[in-house]
Amino acid sequence: MKIGCPREIKPQEFRVGMTPVAAQEAVAHGHEVMIETGAGLGAGFDDAAYTAAGATILDSAEEVFASADMIVKVKEPQAVERKMLREGQVLFTYLHLAPDPEQTKDLLASGCTAIAYETVTDDRGGLPLLAPMSEVAGKLAPQVGAWTLQKANGGRGVLMGGVPGVGPAKVVVIGGGVVGTHAARVAAGMGADVTVLDMSLTRLRYLDDAFRGEFKTGYASKGHTAELVAEADMVVGAVLIPGAAAPKLITRAQLSTMKAGAALVDVAIDQGGCFETSRATTHADPIYEVDGIMHYCVANMPGAVARTSTIALGNATMPFMLALADKGWKQACTDDPHLLNGLNVHAGQLTYYAVGKALGLDV
Ligand code: NAD
Repeated sequence: MKIGCPREIKPQEFRVGMTPVAAQEAVAHGHEVMIETGAGLGAGFDDAAYTAAGATILDSAEEVFASADMIVKVKEPQAVERKMLREGQVLFTYLHLAPDPEQTKDLLASGCTAIAYETVTDDRGGLPLLAPMSEVAGKLAPQVGAWTLQKANGGRGVLMGGVPGVGPAKVVVIGGGVVGTHAARVAAGMGADVTVLDMSLTRLRYLDDAFRGEFKTGYASKGHTAELVAEADMVVGAVLIPGAAAPKLITRAQLSTMKAGAALVDVAIDQGGCFETSRATTHADPIYEVDGIMHYCVANMPGAVARTSTIALGNATMPFMLALADKGWKQACTDDPHLLNGLNVHAGQLTYYAVGKALGLDV
């Protein structure tokens, strides 16, 4: 199969859909890999690394789209890219179609077969192609939160781990899933006093068993959350209700109960945010203040560490990419129901129920 990987063109996106390692694997499986020149630079992979892996470098996205049977990307295709997709071509990337009627319309019109990273599943009910980015965002949250807490950035001027004679920062993580667990571990590793809150007792039991001593756990009732938030130096928002907007767990009125200069890191901002005062920010201008409380709400946190994120995503996508290339999408999806769950669009037909429901389209 001819596999093409164009350069990402969404603003502030530095990741790339295929690493040289993935390209090398695909070539070893007998496939032809075509990479747009410069596609890997943002993640630290130059054209020579791809050439050494056996890939061909093409001068433009147009050439990549025109010659490939399957396009492997990171972000959803932008309008100009959607125009280059064609009937029968396979697209393997993040799509997030539910809030995006324009993209859905264009993908349906193109006749392509679009498989979305975010809806591929695994045996344990997880989302294996979303998890690596949640791991990255979770581990970044205390790092950016610690920076936000610094005085020059408007923060409280509190050091995460304290020093002998001075206590550590108090960190509350709301939501103990993939993001929350990784955030809690890093915050605890920095020496902070960490509590993870969740509504799921099953999850709290697991966290307590697995990480006893590293951080505390608590039930995320309104009262208990409010109590801990009022004492916190940093709150990390890490909740997810699948398929729904994030619930607002801290109201604007509550900000006045908090310590001046405390930091709110809303990782759930890509689902609308879990604090009432959250609004999406960018890496170029990541923080803002409301009522004396500093907010960090970057919607694509993994982009800050594009190299780590690209390799982590590549590790997760590679087996699926190889199955699609080796068997063709139809056989690969027949053999693997989890990959089939990734199928969102085929030959002008929407094939994913939740997207159809969200957009009022037939599935
Ligand atoms: P997850 O499903 O692994 O975990 C979510 C947790 O939230 C679950 O344990 C669930 O029980 C808990 N929860 C749900 N409602 C709650 C409530 N009201 N109070 C307390 N806990 C509650 O999800 P995840 O992979 O950890 O993702 C968390 C969020 O981070 C998602 O919104 C995801 O889209 C987002 N995310 C953002 C970025 C970014 O760059 N900003 C990157 C990756 C993930």
